[in-house]
Amino acid sequence: MSADCLFCKIAAKKIPSKIVYEDDDVFAFEDIGPQAPTHILICPRKHVASLDEAGTEDQLARKLNLLEGYRTVLNNGSGAGQSVFHLHLHLLGGRAFRWPPG
Ligand code: 5GP
Ligand code: ZN
Repeated sequence: MSADCLFCKIAAKKIPSKIVYEDDDVFAFEDIGPQAPTHILICPRKHVASLDEAGTEDQLARKLNLLEGYRTVLNNGSGAGQSVFHLHLHLLGGRAFRWPPG
């Protein structure tokens, strides 16, 4: 755990969130500012600041019944819009998506 990391505090339940999945390695919770009807952040329980430091990912599309398709987005680095430096994958579903993303 990193003492000043928001998502480590969410994992430790020191900050409340709507957790939709968790196990020994991964936790997933609803984004506070959803960009789609379903917007889940999927994080390694281990504090990993960005993809530069990691090699794993996870997804919940089947469990969440996103049969019409879904989009995963991983903002990596400030130039790509990452604002919280605990590696996390956005899982967006429940609407149609255009390409390319903005
Ligand atoms: P990033 O900008 O790093 O790719 O994504 C960070 C995400 O964290 C944003 O979508 C933002 O809405 C979400 N977020 C920021 N603070 C909180 C919070 O306190 N609780 C929850 N559940 N999500 C948060
Ligand atoms: Zn962290």
